[in-house]
Amino acid sequence: MNATCALCERVTVLDAYLCENCRLDTGDRLERLPVMYEELTLMLFRTRQRPADDGPRARAVEPPTPNLAGMHLRSEFAVLPSWRNALLDAMQRTEPVVTGDLGARVVEAVRVLRKHLGWVAKEWPAAGDFAGEVRDLFNGMRTVVGEPDLAARMGPCPTLVDGRPCGAPLLLPDRESVVRCQWCSSRFPPGTWLALKREQLAVFSPTAKAS
Ligand SMILES: [Zn+2]
Ligand SMILES: [Zn+2]
Repeated sequence: MNATCALCERVTVLDAYLCENCRLDTGDRLERLPVMYEELTLMLFRTRQRPADDGPRARAVEPPTPNLAGMHLRSEFAVLPSWRNALLDAMQRTEPVVTGDLGARVVEAVRVLRKHLGWVAKEWPAAGDFAGEVRDLFNGMRTVVGEPDLAARMGPCPTLVDGRPCGAPLLLPDRESVVRCQWCSSRFPPGTWLALKREQLAVFSPTAKAS
């Protein structure tokens, strides 16, 4: 049965709320979010460096001065513990209550959400809203902390290796223009992507017609 992915709205052959790409992307974003939280925290509390040639004057140690706009930004990560609780409710499961600062709760939320991502994609009607908020949080924060975007997924590698298709997932890293296969080292520069698509169809779904 065909369904439409609740995040990217592409038709998916799976009977699920999220397509395979969106499930994988959501997992990758979740994995990077606790690191971004740490980076944001470091940015917020970074003390100003004093010049080295300060002379014999007494060096006062400046206390960290958090910036309020940044604090507000960091509080947006609170959607993750909320989604964790909503997911556990929906699955009728319990996990130990997590106390501590937001950073600790973000780490715990990501652990639970990644663990059940298969169930989320397949069974949770809220999967599209959840994955959309994770994407928005990720995109908002990566512009602040200067992290690259996720690599674009370009489908399986169709290169024949010992007579069989390689099949490794091809990724196009953010701000790069050449797709490279990490298994067989094939390269697909711009201009070959249409041919790549045709080859993938021919190798992996020989009954489907290229469009
Ligand atoms: Zn999708
Ligand atoms: Zn390959």
